[in-house]
Amino acid sequence: MAADRFKEKTVVLSGGGRGIGEATARRFAREGAEVLLIARTGSEIDAVAADIGAGGGKASAFAADVSDPAAVDRAVEAARDRFGRIDVLVNCAGIDHDSPFLSFPDDAWQRVIGVNLTGSFLMAQRVARVMTETGGGSIVHISSIDAYGADGNQVAYNASKAGLLGLNRTMATELASHGIRSNVVSPGYTATPLTRQYVGDAMYEYMTKDFDRIPQRRMATPEEIAAAILFLASDDASAITGSELTVDGGTTANLYIVETLPAG
Ligand code: NAP
Repeated sequence: MAADRFKEKTVVLSGGGRGIGEATARRFAREGAEVLLIARTGSEIDAVAADIGAGGGKASAFAADVSDPAAVDRAVEAARDRFGRIDVLVNCAGIDHDSPFLSFPDDAWQRVIGVNLTGSFLMAQRVARVMTETGGGSIVHISSIDAYGADGNQVAYNASKAGLLGLNRTMATELASHGIRSNVVSPGYTATPLTRQYVGDAMYEYMTKDFDRIPQRRMATPEEIAAAILFLASDDASAITGSELTVDGGTTANLYIVETLPAG
């Protein structure tokens, strides 16, 4: 592993308080970056930043809701004040709401689209404006395999994650001339505290070791998602923009038709 790919680089990362965002922040810091973590719960991002600092890395925190344009303005301004430039943005903040389509509540639709899609747009636009003034940069949006195939009862989540693909392609097209790359990482099921809470302990154990639906028979780890994010953010991906990198143990490669035909 190149331990210093991000030496002297600055990274803004939303959703860094736990799960995939936390693992990604820790990996950026290990590879030399100075990281600004953004999420709503100040105590969580403060704790992650302090722990990174205690381990010799450089990180700080700024509490903000990415769906609020004024809060995003303040967060990006804070990053510009602290760093002078922003080399990398990772849009990792995300929420979900489960409900059948026919009774899906309007306010839940607005909330999920507001955080996952509008929040990513707001962060990306404000950070890209800074990047255009300081020589470019790299932006990675965290979508999901739910952008390519639906998980039931998650219409707003699935739509928001598919929307990120269009946001990404448009940004790659419009921003290449400014030296800004934009890419997507699409995780499959990932072993995070959120997943454990969602499926329960017994199912989580099954999904970690013997997950029949996934060719690799297990969820990815947050660290495996982080590795893909850092690759796309790094100069190793200097000719890659507008792309989508799926990290799902082969889940979407398998249409799962033959396996589910009735026996006979
Ligand atoms: P998680 O553990 O729930 O963490 C989500 C992070 O986003 C938290 O730090 C949360 O902090 C932050 N966040 C949520 N709403 C926010 C808002 N309005 N403004 C700012 N920050 C906000 O989630 P995760 O499992 O690590 O997932 C991270 C990303 O990967 C999400 O975009 C998710 O959709 C995607 N993903 C996850 C999986 C999976 O299996 N876990 C699979 C595919 C894709 P606060 O609540 O304090 O704001």
